Amino acid sequence: MKDNTKCLHAGYTPKNSEPRVVPIVQSTTYVFDSTDDVAAVFDDPTKALIYSRFANPTVMAVEEKIADLEGGIAAMCTSSGQAANLLAILNICNAGDSVVASSQIYGGTINLFSYTLKKLGIDCYYVDVDATEEEIEKAIHPNTKAVFGETIANPSVSVLDIEKFAKVAHKHNIPLIIDNTFATPILCKPIEFGADIVTHSTSKYMDGHAVQCGGVIVDSGKFDWAGSGKFPEMVEPDESYHGITYVGTYGKLAYILKARMQLMRDFGCYPAAHSAFLLNLGLETLGLRMKQYCKNAQEVAEFLKNREEIESISYPGLEGDKYHELANKYLKGASGVIAIVIKGGREKAIKFMDSLKLASNEVHVADIRTCVLHPAGETHRQLTDEQLVAAGIAPGMVRVSVGLEDVSDIIDDLKQALDQINK
Ligand SMILES: *Cc1c(COP(=O)(O)O)cnc(C)c1O
Repeated sequence: MKDNTKCLHAGYTPKNSEPRVVPIVQSTTYVFDSTDDVAAVFDDPTKALIYSRFANPTVMAVEEKIADLEGGIAAMCTSSGQAANLLAILNICNAGDSVVASSQIYGGTINLFSYTLKKLGIDCYYVDVDATEEEIEKAIHPNTKAVFGETIANPSVSVLDIEKFAKVAHKHNIPLIIDNTFATPILCKPIEFGADIVTHSTSKYMDGHAVQCGGVIVDSGKFDWAGSGKFPEMVEPDESYHGITYVGTYGKLAYILKARMQLMRDFGCYPAAHSAFLLNLGLETLGLRMKQYCKNAQEVAEFLKNREEIESISYPGLEGDKYHELANKYLKGASGVIAIVIKGGREKAIKFMDSLKLASNEVHVADIRTCVLHPAGETHRQLTDEQLVAAGIAPGMVRVSVGLEDVSDIIDDLKQALDQINK
């Protein structure tokens, strides 16, 4: 199946007289014929469903669809993108370990890595998104267990050289984790370029309609956990599961099953069946929507780049953009997010935002409706000026998330707001 067909059909194939649409199995629990049957499932939870804190048929259909779209072997949904990145790291890092991350990543992930993981004893070393192989290597310590980056960074829209990061990670026998939220598997499949684990905030383009938060972790099944020698918990018996060994018992599925059996069991951030049902509705039109987001954003970017109120514009789809070549290599389209810096800094950026009529000022991105956000004053306000620069965020930056309205209406709105700036 090709992508648009997968969006509609992967993960759920009804049998004779079963519902055409993935049913919502809104049940906390599942029944068994005997105590022995329950005991068997406790010994190996992959044998049947036990409890909807870590597996549910509606959610599993969506997991299979996303794994298929990404070219992975399995996936696990979470209740948010934050939960996905948290569990993706905790599955392979303990206190005393570290992670190397690109500095141009989502502000919430910077919080998670710099503060919360630090409190748990996991350090994060940042490297520039354009770091050379040598610079990335320098950041990798003997205790480093993963390298992390975003395909298209939120909000700076830089494009990561995935193959370069994968090469360095693999040289050190550690996996590359890619947050593919802005590209979606329609525009980029990071596993094809060497990523081992792919994460998403499904709250963004995958859901697409701004109706529920969610996240997902996709396992490529390609990383050699046993051969690496750096992940003893993947090969040694898990006392919390009667001495199961993940690689020994589950082979290529070791990472994702460990995440589900240990971490989802203990953290419990699994989405509800109803949320997965809504996510699935979004996924059904993902291919169609991504194509149109790219088309609208390209036209909006071409309009914005000629306006004198704008100091700079970043959109990897633009000829001459710093990341245009990487976009051509890695992406089938530059997605729907444009970062602009308004001349006159913070004050003029706010004037522009407050003058918009159609585009909404909201803490979201990748909504089906055009929306804008001022990172320095809103999502990234906790960052120091130094961190803002490292994350590629100027005080006058506005993130424009181009929606699926008629593009002429979007451009008219941006035009009238730009006209207001210097009035
Ligand atoms: C929004 C976002 C997240 C966090 O996802 P939530 O669903 O809001 O928890 C993580 N990574 C990226 C790139 C994002 O845009």
